[in-house]
Amino acid sequence: MSILPQELWDDLAFDTLAVRAGMTRTQEGEHSEALFLTSSFAFGSAAQAAARFGGTEAGNIYSRFTNPTVRTFEERLAALEGAERAVATSSGMAAILATALAFLSAGDHVVCSRAVFGTTNVLFEKYLKKFGVQTTFVSLTDINEWQAAIQPKTKLFFLETPSNPLCEVADIAALAALARQHHILLAVDNCFCTPALQKPLALGADLVIHSATKYLDGQGRALGGAVVGSHKLLEEVYGVIRTCGPSLSAFNAWIFLKGLETLRLRMEAHSANALALATWLVEQPQVVAVNYTGLPSHPQHQLAAQQQRAFGGVLSFVVQGEREGAWRFIDGTQVMSITANLGDAKTTITHPASTTHGRLSPEAKAAAGITEGLIRIAVGLEDIADLKADCERGFANMG
Ligand SMILES: *Cc1c(COP(=O)(O)O)cnc(C)c1O
Repeated sequence: MSILPQELWDDLAFDTLAVRAGMTRTQEGEHSEALFLTSSFAFGSAAQAAARFGGTEAGNIYSRFTNPTVRTFEERLAALEGAERAVATSSGMAAILATALAFLSAGDHVVCSRAVFGTTNVLFEKYLKKFGVQTTFVSLTDINEWQAAIQPKTKLFFLETPSNPLCEVADIAALAALARQHHILLAVDNCFCTPALQKPLALGADLVIHSATKYLDGQGRALGGAVVGSHKLLEEVYGVIRTCGPSLSAFNAWIFLKGLETLRLRMEAHSANALALATWLVEQPQVVAVNYTGLPSHPQHQLAAQQQRAFGGVLSFVVQGEREGAWRFIDGTQVMSITANLGDAKTTITHPASTTHGRLSPEAKAAAGITEGLIRIAVGLEDIADLKADCERGFANMG
C-alpha cells in the first residue's frame, strides 16, 4: 500500500507526486525508498504459493513479474504522466519492442516519424519487418504525410518530439485526432521532454514511451525504460515483459526513483541553460544556423510553447567548414564530454553525421537534414558562463 493515500493523488501537484507517489514502507520504518534486491519472494505456506501462482491472491512471486522497488517507480512515473499505469522495462528500446510485440501482428502496418532515435528506426525497419510488420516513415511535422500513409492494417503511429538532433516538433493533439479517427494507437516517445515538460496522454496519445536512461535518471548511471498508458493497454505490455523478460532491475528502478524526485528542477535548469546557449550561439560569426525550439525564430516555436512547459536541454547548430569545422570545434572543447548520450548533468557534444547518423547513406542524411557541419549539444547543468567559454575554445580551434 502506498503511504500517500491513493485518493489524494489526483489533487496533488507534480512536484509532490515526484517526491512521494508510490512509496511504501516496511516494518523497519525507512524514510528513503527501500531497494528490494531479490529475484524471488517466499510464501508462508504451500497453500499461499498455490494461491499466488493461481492468481487468486495478489502479491509478489518473482522479480521478472513484479518487484516492490520497480512497482514504486512505475506508480510514480504513471502519476507524473497522468496515466493509470506504467510498466518498467530494461531499456528504452525494450519499451518500444514490448509495445510492438503487444499491439502488432504479422501483416500489420506502422507509420513512424522519420526523425526517430536511430535504433528505433532499425527495430522497425529490420527486425519487425522479419516478422511481417511493415513501417512507413513520414515527416514528423507534415500531418498530410501521416494521413496519406494510412493503410487498412495500420495499427500504430509512432513518433518522438522534439526530434533529435534537429528539434522539429510534432503536433501531438492533431496526430492523436487523426489516429483516433482511424482506430490507430498513437505512441509518443517522451524521452526528450519527460512529463516535467510535456504530457502526451493529456494531448490525446494512447501510450508514452520512455528511455529512463536519459533525463529520468539524469546523471548517466543506469539503463531502463517504461511504457505508460491505460490499464487496458498496459496489461498487454505487462504480459510481454513478464513473458519475454526485459524487466527493469530493482537497482536501476531505485536510481530512477531518486531521479524523479528532482526531475522538474533539473528539466527547467537544462532548459534555461540550453536557451541561454542557443541565444548566444545565434550571435557567433562561425555559426550558420541554430536549431532550438526555444528560439522565437524556430518555425514551430509557437507549437512548442503551447505543447511544452519549457524547451528542453537539446540543441543543434551548424558551423562553417563542413566536417572539418565541426570536428575542430568539438576537439577544441575541454569541459563538454564527447559522447552521444544525453539527459545527463554533464553536457555532451556530438557530431551526428559521423556517429549517431553515420550509418545513413549520403542521400538519407541530406533528406534528414544531417549536414556535415551539424553539431548537437545536450546541455547539462554546469555554469552557463563555463559552457560559453568552452564553445569559445571550440570556435578558436576552428582557426
Ligand atoms: C536513448 C533513446 C532511446 C533508447 O533508449 P535506451 O535506454 O538506450 O534503450 C529511445 N528513444 C530516444 C528518444 C532515446 O533518446
